[in-house]
Amino acid sequence: MPEKVVIIGSGPAGWTAAIYAARANLQPLVYEGAVNDVNYVNGTLPLGQLNLTTEVENFPTWPFADNAALHQFAKSALPAERYANVAHLYEGKKAHQGKRAATGPEQMEFVRQQAVNFGTRIVTDDIVKVDFSRRPFKLTAGEGQVIETEAVIIATGARANYLGLESENRFKNNGVSACAVCDGALPRFRNKPLVVVGGGDTAVEEGTYLTKFASVVYMVHRRDALRASKIMQHRALSNPKITMKWNSVLDEVLGSEDDGVTGARLKSTVNGKTEDFDVSGVFLAIGHTPNTDFLGGQVKLDSQGYIVLTVPFRTNTSVEGVFAAGDVGDSYYRQAVTAAGTGCMAAIDVERWLAH
Ligand code: NAP
Repeated sequence: MPEKVVIIGSGPAGWTAAIYAARANLQPLVYEGAVNDVNYVNGTLPLGQLNLTTEVENFPTWPFADNAALHQFAKSALPAERYANVAHLYEGKKAHQGKRAATGPEQMEFVRQQAVNFGTRIVTDDIVKVDFSRRPFKLTAGEGQVIETEAVIIATGARANYLGLESENRFKNNGVSACAVCDGALPRFRNKPLVVVGGGDTAVEEGTYLTKFASVVYMVHRRDALRASKIMQHRALSNPKITMKWNSVLDEVLGSEDDGVTGARLKSTVNGKTEDFDVSGVFLAIGHTPNTDFLGGQVKLDSQGYIVLTVPFRTNTSVEGVFAAGDVGDSYYRQAVTAAGTGCMAAIDVERWLAH
């Protein structure tokens, strides 16, 4: 028997779709992604981009609360093996103090558990190939398993972009990163100057986070004004440990195989002059690319690779029975709450489509 619906992806869109599909008796099967080095480097591990952030202040329902209260909540909501993934937030030397918003990793554990509680089944693997030419659709997992399903919800999100410099690639995981929260606390970055490239909310968030560890953070932006929201801009511009490098781009990452990153060559976008800085890390925060490669061109994409939603205010794609939710089909809002909202929509769209 084919599955009724398979959900590919495990960020806010995927889990919200799973909660709604499970409560509609569709017995959803979620492919949450594989835990492997490739997904680590690409930023495509299970639980999505929110799992790579710290506190999420703009997700409705999570006002600041005492760390102890969040601790109690996590212990009560999660089984021991999932609580272990967030225990460091509450216990030990790195535990938070005082009030805070729930972090991305906590929210993702909570919403995953919410989906499990209603009967969602989960496979910790990627879907690497699809065949949407006839129904039931065929999905091939990374381990080679082939799954047949009547409907699919694609919720694979997006991943961080890199500039494409040869030197950037050479030093990936050796001083170059696109995730401050994953890598910022590494000893190699402690009390050292660091570079963050970009001028959006992510760049400001990453830069601000890195000031916990770095001696100074150079924020390198190609223009003379930040794209980030006003509240985030204020955070960056008033932080004494952040030095803005306006009208500048990263020209080359400097370093050696043994030492990793030791410097950054910045180039002025005004007069082309270059300047070298001693830094031990370079963090990229220059936007995202949707995770749609595995679709092999079988679903209509826009020029940036995002899935085209074919019906206004619905989650339909160009293939009947295939729906999309979250950042994979949204180059405009790209928020956790909009992803969750479209996850809900996709599950309802699947339910109605299957019923008809
Ligand atoms: P973004 O808003 O698209 O910003 C990307 C930044 O990178 C821009 O400043 C852009 O410069 C720069 N950039 C892009 N390509 C570049 C290149 N090749 N070389 C140099 N610079 C380059 O992406 P984002 O910051 O990841 O944010 C994505 C979405 O998530 C936004 O809607 C944002 O509001 C949201 N977000 C919210 C929060 C929060 O609320 N706490 C945190 C993170 C993200 P230009 O400005 O010149 O285009």
